[in-house]
Amino acid sequence: MSGWGFLLQGGMGWNCKNWGWACEYVVGVDVVTAGLEVLHINETKNRDLFHAARGAGPAFPAVVTRFYMKTLSLLPMWQSLYFFDITKFKEVLEWLIKLSPTASPTLEIVLVSSFVPQSSPTPTLTAVFTSFAPSHTAALSALTPIHTSLPCPPSASPNHPSRFCEPTSLPEEYAAQLAGNAAPGFRTRSDNAYLSNDLSPAQVAAALDPAFSSLPTKQSTALWFSMNPTSRRARKGDMMLSMQSDHYFSVYAVWEEEKDDGVCDSWVRDVFARLEEQEGTLAGSYLGDADFQFRKAGGKFWGEGKGDPGDVKAKWDGEGRICGLLEGHEALGEGVRG
Ligand SMILES: Cc1cc2nc3c(=O)[nH]c(=O)nc-3n(C[C@H](O)[C@H](O)[C@H](O)COP(=O)(O)OP(=O)(O)OC[C@H]3O[C@@H](n4cnc5c(N)ncnc54)[C@H](O)[C@@H]3O)c2cc1C
Repeated sequence: MSGWGFLLQGGMGWNCKNWGWACEYVVGVDVVTAGLEVLHINETKNRDLFHAARGAGPAFPAVVTRFYMKTLSLLPMWQSLYFFDITKFKEVLEWLIKLSPTASPTLEIVLVSSFVPQSSPTPTLTAVFTSFAPSHTAALSALTPIHTSLPCPPSASPNHPSRFCEPTSLPEEYAAQLAGNAAPGFRTRSDNAYLSNDLSPAQVAAALDPAFSSLPTKQSTALWFSMNPTSRRARKGDMMLSMQSDHYFSVYAVWEEEKDDGVCDSWVRDVFARLEEQEGTLAGSYLGDADFQFRKAGGKFWGEGKGDPGDVKAKWDGEGRICGLLEGHEALGEGVRG
């Protein structure tokens, strides 16, 4: 069932920055254990498994057959989009980092580097502000302070004029995201990291500039996703998801031909190797967008001392019937304990 891996790993859904993780909305789960027991798990029944079901991702040691969720009302959506020359990266990202903690809680904030249109010689930055607000007036009051504080004039390309507080919808946004993903037949490699909250906005921007400015192909993208204030809140309830920071960074290298595998894989490896070399820059990684066989080193997926899928696995699937992270259980344990 599509979406269940998303929930198990935490789930960075719409407006995660303010609404929190998708797994925070899970109130119960039906599972089949490795020992073939059929169980309902929740905050009071089989609590250790329920804890793991909210954040263990592929390390969850049972098969989910049903999730029980709290839902949110569907709100109207409005959006502002600003396109900037890639040379403005540091200025734009610093601005976003500074405004994020106090921006309206109705706003999701994302910065993407991509080739729009693909014929352009350099990547373009797109700052996306998506508002989930009950009325146009509320959306305007969320988006106006952004509009009046732009750090530099956006690009004036006739193909990509800026948009201010225009209506949008989930179907339109899903269609746009689908169009931006790797098309069938293309090859892709993704990876991600959380950057430390101890870094200043200027340090975050300096660390990410090389990746955003050097996309290896016209189909590739890099993304910064604002997580503040969700990243600063005490976690709700009982959940294993414990790794997060104000700055989620991911790359999606996309290419067409096998002969370019080496170049694109190396680009992804180099981006994260450079960040790993800069002491104190990385806080950890998100299970989504991670490939456990490609990069283990930065794979600190849970906060120090905040939970260990290895312990739950040992109790519920001691024989290792459920495959778990493909890198193997021992390596997982090392990663967790640092
Ligand atoms: C371009 C791109 C954009 C992305 N955007 C986002 C995003 O916005 N937010 C986000 O959070 N992630 C994002 N991701 C990561 C994506 O969410 C993950 O790849 C996720 O695994 C997909 O969810 P799924 O439910 O399809 O997972 P699946 O691929 O179905 O499952 C992932 C893993 O979960 C486990 N699993 C799945 N079903 C069950 C079950 N029934 N019982 C037990 N274990 C199970 C398995 O270990 C499986 O390998 C993105 C990835 C890409 C490439």
